[in-house]
Amino acid sequence: MKKHNFSAGPCILPQEVFEKASQAVLDFNGMGLSILEISHRDKAFVAVMEEARALALELLGLTGKGYQAVFLQGGASMEFLRVPYNLMKVDGKAAYLDTGTWANNAIKEAKPFGETVVVASSKSDNYVYIPKEYSIPSDADYFHCTSNNTIFGTQMRSFPETNVPIVCDMSSDIFSRTLDFSKFDLIYAGAQKNMGPAGTTLIVVKEEILGKTGRAIPNIMNYQQHIEKESMYNTPAVFAVYTSLLTLQWLKNLGGIAAIEKVNEAKAKLLYEEIDRNPLFRGTTVKEDRSNMNATFVLNDENHKELFYSMWKAAGISGITGHRSVGGYRASMYNALPIGSVQVLVDVMKELEKSIQ
Ligand SMILES: *Cc1c(COP(=O)(O)O)cnc(C)c1O
Repeated sequence: MKKHNFSAGPCILPQEVFEKASQAVLDFNGMGLSILEISHRDKAFVAVMEEARALALELLGLTGKGYQAVFLQGGASMEFLRVPYNLMKVDGKAAYLDTGTWANNAIKEAKPFGETVVVASSKSDNYVYIPKEYSIPSDADYFHCTSNNTIFGTQMRSFPETNVPIVCDMSSDIFSRTLDFSKFDLIYAGAQKNMGPAGTTLIVVKEEILGKTGRAIPNIMNYQQHIEKESMYNTPAVFAVYTSLLTLQWLKNLGGIAAIEKVNEAKAKLLYEEIDRNPLFRGTTVKEDRSNMNATFVLNDENHKELFYSMWKAAGISGITGHRSVGGYRASMYNALPIGSVQVLVDVMKELEKSIQ
């Protein structure tokens, strides 16, 4: 039986994507070859890469606006390093908003390159909210933020107005909600949270911000090099890019980001209403900053843990255990998770309430 998969990542993808990707492993495009055994230079795969790059920009509303999309390897963690390499000037300065573990890791990778200014942090409150009052130094080379904090379950609803280029780690909420993406100068996202399997990272960058650091950048780290080589500087993650393309096509057929956003809002509302209503549970973040992708919550009385566990297991639910640094529960509701799965979880929470009265 297919599970109700709330995993934070790698995570659920649309069933039709699993089916098409499986088919391509056996026979890609009727070529008599598996996608796993063709050259990345084969015109069939070059077409996949071109379409994936173009479709990513199209869905974000960035076609023809001076942006380039590339699919690289190394995960979002590699971009923590590539971003300062490509954007921080020699003896420069970068501004970071510290909203959680991933933001913190990004800061650590930038430190060797120059001055990192943490404009605000919610660390002392275990990252249960998004800091909103802060100013960005006007001489910073860029401002870096994390749109959705996968581990703590908070999500940025607004982004600062600034003349400094904005860099955003959108790993866990890209393609989930409408935003004016042209406000961002560089967006990156590991595929495995909302787009595809692990192994590739989407980077969308406004070309005009590149090439200004005055430092020598090794080719493998250099965004300009990857753009020039059309994301084929070295062998790309062929299968991960193909599967990401299938997911992007699925999203386009659904009506794009605006259509999935409505579903995502309905799913989040359904679950948060139950967390707030049910006396056995409480949410772990401040309400105004709650993430529509990752809902974090705890049992008020840990004694009910075993019973709850047996009930959600029996209902076919998978992946709701909270991150080891937070504990409790985390229900990740990425694009491909059906609202029916959220209803199953809500029903189990109600059943638990009834059974211990
Ligand atoms: C998972 C995650 C990362 C790390 O991604 P890797 O691909 O494992 O390097 C970074 N940022 C955010 C917001 C994430 O959710």
